[in-house]
Amino acid sequence: MPTVAASHFVVDLPTLFAVTVFLSLTGGMLLIFAWLQNRNTPALAYWGGGYLIGAGAAALLGSPGLLPGAWSGGLANALACAAYGMMWGGARSFEGRRVRVSLLAAGSVVWLVAFQFDGFVQSLQARVALLSVITATYALLSACELWHARDRELISRWPTLALVVTHAGFLLARVPFAQTLALSLTTGQPHGAIVPVLAFQMLFTTVCLPFLRVAMSKERAELEQRRAALTDSLTGIANRRAFFDRGIRLLDWAMADRRPAALLLFDLDRFKEVNDTAGHQAGDRVLQAFCDLVGTSLRAGDLFGRLGGEEFACLLANASMAQALHVAERLCREFAAMRLPGLDVRATVSVGVAMASEAGRDLPTLLALADRALYRAKADGRNRVAPAPLVLVDMNGGETSRRTMERSAAMAAPAAG
Ligand code: GH3
Ligand code: MG
Ligand code: MG
Repeated sequence: MPTVAASHFVVDLPTLFAVTVFLSLTGGMLLIFAWLQNRNTPALAYWGGGYLIGAGAAALLGSPGLLPGAWSGGLANALACAAYGMMWGGARSFEGRRVRVSLLAAGSVVWLVAFQFDGFVQSLQARVALLSVITATYALLSACELWHARDRELISRWPTLALVVTHAGFLLARVPFAQTLALSLTTGQPHGAIVPVLAFQMLFTTVCLPFLRVAMSKERAELEQRRAALTDSLTGIANRRAFFDRGIRLLDWAMADRRPAALLLFDLDRFKEVNDTAGHQAGDRVLQAFCDLVGTSLRAGDLFGRLGGEEFACLLANASMAQALHVAERLCREFAAMRLPGLDVRATVSVGVAMASEAGRDLPTLLALADRALYRAKADGRNRVAPAPLVLVDMNGGETSRRTMERSAAMAAPAAG
């Protein structure tokens, strides 16, 4: 039984392969079970399948007499290439990208073609080099998918990425040590630390990667659930809860930086009539079109949400009353002019605008102020913008004295006018 003695521990070749087979089977089954519980993540099935194929490769490599001649190694390494191909397929599938089976199998095909040449089969260096390049390429392609992941918030992709890149490095590191590896593993000749280090890295990756893959898919599912709980399903914008959560934070930052923030409160006009005349589905389309219009007009730091029914709100970061009124009037005008293909609906919106000054106005107070202004816009004939009374705060001496400047009702000019 060939064993390799290092200064601190002994690498026993059959044991090494048996442990690799066992760990690959366990990892593969863990991933397949995770997939059975979560069928809409086919990536888990690719990764699980890859591990099971990898177990087959390790079993063949560990039993050289199983197949005639060199074919044992030839087929085993073709399976190893396929296992790494599946790893990349899983990474692509996880990112919602197209998986081409032909590309997953390309590494195995290249290996099998090379294996037809005697010179290649005889050259240990060439075999190790080709195998390392194929498997490391698949590992690095998987790493690219993780790096460009669509889910920037997915924390568990970072340790996975680190592990996959390190593993690719170790795969390539086998090339210069091909002779040492072959000699020491097959004849038990003394070697440096490289053999135990490579063996340990392989086992470490085999154990850790399945857990990280399952963690990634669980984290993704949780993120999606959390996002769904904060998103309005009809319009895709923040729902009431998310608007309050983020709005309170946005206001806190604005107050801390002593920057103004403006709240725009929208209520679509006579929307019940829109539903009654054009139908509820048409009403839904109008709501979506309104959200598209507002969503595309806002700056990156602004917040837009649906408070309920046909009521929406915008928090504009770092905007003065004049700027907020300008934005509101433009949106009012553009919405009134908007036509939806195939729908003979003319919808308008009224807007109440309130300012959070450096006094530290909280969101519910701001909403109440904007609501009063909105009420005035409705009373004055709808399709218009009304500002809430401006409250200026004198911060001198720590004593807050308020001077209310009632803006004239004339400011609530018709937006379309
Ligand atoms: P006002 O100008 O005074 O705001 O009149 P209004 O008709 O818009 O106000 P009201 O509160 O009486 O009606 C709101 C309507 O909005 C009633 C409801 O059917 C409709 N609505 C609320 N949510 C939705 C929705 O998700 N889809 C559709 N199609 N309609 C909705
Ligand atoms: Mg309403
Ligand atoms: Mg309304």
